[in-house]
Amino acid sequence: MNIATWLERAGLSHPDRPAIGYGTRVARSYGELSGRAGRLAGALRAQCGLSPGERVAIFAKNSPDYMEALYAIWHAGLAAVPVNAKLHGRELAYILEQSGARVCFVSKDLETAAAAHAPATLQRLITIGSREHEQLFAADRVAVAARSDDDLAWLFYTSGTTGRPKGAMLTHKVLAWASHAYLGEVDQTVAGDAVLHAAPMSHGSGMYIMPHVARLGINVIPESGAFEPDEIFELVRRWPRTSMFAAPTMIKRLTESAADCDPANIRTIIWGGAPMYVEDAVRALDRFGPRFAQIYGQGEAPMTITTLTKEDIADRNDPRWAERLGSAGRPYACVEVMVADGEGRPLPVGETGEICARGDVVMPGYWQNPDATAKALQNGWLLTGDVGAFDAQGYLTLKDRSKDVIISGGSNVYPREVEEVLLKHDRVREVSVIGRPDTEWGEIVVAYVVGDVGAEDLDRLCLDEIARFKRPKDYVFVEQLPKNNYGKILKTELREKDTRRA
Ligand code: AMP
Repeated sequence: MNIATWLERAGLSHPDRPAIGYGTRVARSYGELSGRAGRLAGALRAQCGLSPGERVAIFAKNSPDYMEALYAIWHAGLAAVPVNAKLHGRELAYILEQSGARVCFVSKDLETAAAAHAPATLQRLITIGSREHEQLFAADRVAVAARSDDDLAWLFYTSGTTGRPKGAMLTHKVLAWASHAYLGEVDQTVAGDAVLHAAPMSHGSGMYIMPHVARLGINVIPESGAFEPDEIFELVRRWPRTSMFAAPTMIKRLTESAADCDPANIRTIIWGGAPMYVEDAVRALDRFGPRFAQIYGQGEAPMTITTLTKEDIADRNDPRWAERLGSAGRPYACVEVMVADGEGRPLPVGETGEICARGDVVMPGYWQNPDATAKALQNGWLLTGDVGAFDAQGYLTLKDRSKDVIISGGSNVYPREVEEVLLKHDRVREVSVIGRPDTEWGEIVVAYVVGDVGAEDLDRLCLDEIARFKRPKDYVFVEQLPKNNYGKILKTELREKDTRRA
C-alpha cells in the first residue's frame, strides 16, 4: 500500500483537524494538506513529466512545505530523497546524481549552493516559496498512485566507510512497519497529540511523521529550523501532549537550559542515534520526569531495531535500573535481532559480537550498489556494523562501533570522507581522522596529520569541500602514524595514543 493513503484518509475523515503546526500557529489542516499534496502530485506527474518509481530530492530545513512535498512525492507514486540540509553543495550533487533524481525541491537559503553544484542529470530545481513553486498547486489533483509494499518510498542516504553516501532503500512496507512499531512500542498516540520536529526530518525525526498522520496527530515544526531549548519549551507549552525525537546531545542541552519548562505537556522524548551517558539520562529524568524512551536503529532499519521503553526507564525501583539505562533495550516485536560471531553464527548471552537484524523493517538493499548491499545483507540478515551483547534478560547493550564512525552532536561523521578531503592538500602526506570523547558533543573530530602544513589551511580546505560539522575540531601534527605490518594505519592505537595525550 502507498504510505500516502494515510494522509488521504485523514483529509477525507477529518479535514478540519490541524495536521501541521509551524511555530505556535496551525499551518495546514488535514484537508488542506491532503488537497495541496494531491495537486502538487499532479504537477510532478503532468508538468515535470515524472513516472512512478522516479526519485525526487528535497534539500531543505524542516518546514510545512517540506512535509507537503514529501507527501506529494508519495502521492504521485515517486520516491523521496530527503537530503541532510547541512551537507555541502558537492555532497548534494553526488546524491542527486547517484539517485538519478531529475527534480529537487530546495529551500531559499540553500538555493545558491544547490544550483552551483547541480549535476547534468538534474532537470528542475524548484525553490520552495517561489512563484514557480506556488504555480504548481494550480495543477489538477491526481488520485493516490497505486504502489506495492515493496516499491521504493524513501532513499535514505547514509555515508559509508568508503566516504561515499549509500542510499538505503526504504520501501512503503519498511515505512509502515517502522510507523506501527513506533505506535505500538515507543509512544501511544491519539488524535490531536503533537510531535515536534526539532531534529532534521531528512533523518530520524522524519520517520515519526507517518505514524502521526496515521493517528491524526499534529506535526509541529519550530520556526527557527534549529534546536533551541527556549523555543522548544515555548512550543511544548502551546501544543498538547508533545513528543519529540532528540539526539543525546540535544537532550543534554534541554536539561542544562536555564529556561523555564513545565514538563506536564511533554508526552515522550525519544533519544537515540548515539550513546547516551547514564549520568546524563538520570539528570534528564530528574528534570523532566519519567517521559523518556530510547530507540536504537540505523538508516538501514530506520529507528527500529531495539527500544528501551518509558516503563523501563521510569522504573527506578528495579535493582537493574542503572544497567538498563546503559542498554539500548529489547528488540521490537517486528524484528529479529542476533549478536553474531565473524561467521554469522549466533553468540551466547553475554558475548560480544556484531549486531544483526532481520524483518520487514529492514531495507532490501542499497540503491544501485550491489557490492555494498552484498556486504550489508548476508543470509537475510542486516549486518549493522555495531558491536554489542545481550544480557540474560534479553536487553542489548551496544559496546562499540566496528565502523570507526564518529558521532558528533548526533550527526555521523565518517573519517574516510574527511581524510580524503585533507589529502587533497599537496603538503599533507598522510592523515588519519578519529573521534575523541567529549562531554558536550559525545565525540569531536580530530585529525592526525603528517606534513608541513598549518591547521588554518586545512580548515579552509574543509570549508570548501564538506559540511561544517564534519570539520576536525583539533589537528595533531605528527612525524608518523601507527601502522601494522601491511602498512595499514592502526586507528585503535591512534585513539589510545590520543587518550594518553589528553
Ligand atoms: P544512522 O544510520 O545515521 O541513523 O546511524 C545509525 C548508527 O547510530 C547506528 O548504527 C549506531 O552506531 C548509532 N546508534 C543509533 N541508535 C543508538 C543508540 N540508541 N545508542 C547508541 N548508538 C546508537
